Amino acid sequence: MSALLAANSTLWAANRPPPFPCLIGVETYGRLTCQEAISLLGDYLERILGDRLLAALEAHLADCEPCRAYLKTYRKTRDLTARLGAVDMPPELQSRLRTFLRDRIQRGEI
Ligand SMILES: [Zn+2]
Repeated sequence: MSALLAANSTLWAANRPPPFPCLIGVETYGRLTCQEAISLLGDYLERILGDRLLAALEAHLADCEPCRAYLKTYRKTRDLTARLGAVDMPPELQSRLRTFLRDRIQRGEI
């Protein structure tokens, strides 16, 4: 781990995302950086990583305590939110949202 990432990892709060954006796509399947590893955790928990990427991530996690801690918190957060029941949107809010979206679409804003 680089000195910069080591310094950043000490700043990671358990319930906050890492202080950098996720990468989209990891070109190197060799040694992953912490940034690359963190960007893969969602797919890791969904069990949709390919074999080589999975092996690279697991190798990184084996050597990187901050990323293991982040994974543990990420997994716990997912489990807790999965237990929350879905709440229906009140009809009044549905109607207002529909009108808002229709107006934005008609103006070409979305
Ligand atoms: Zn790491």
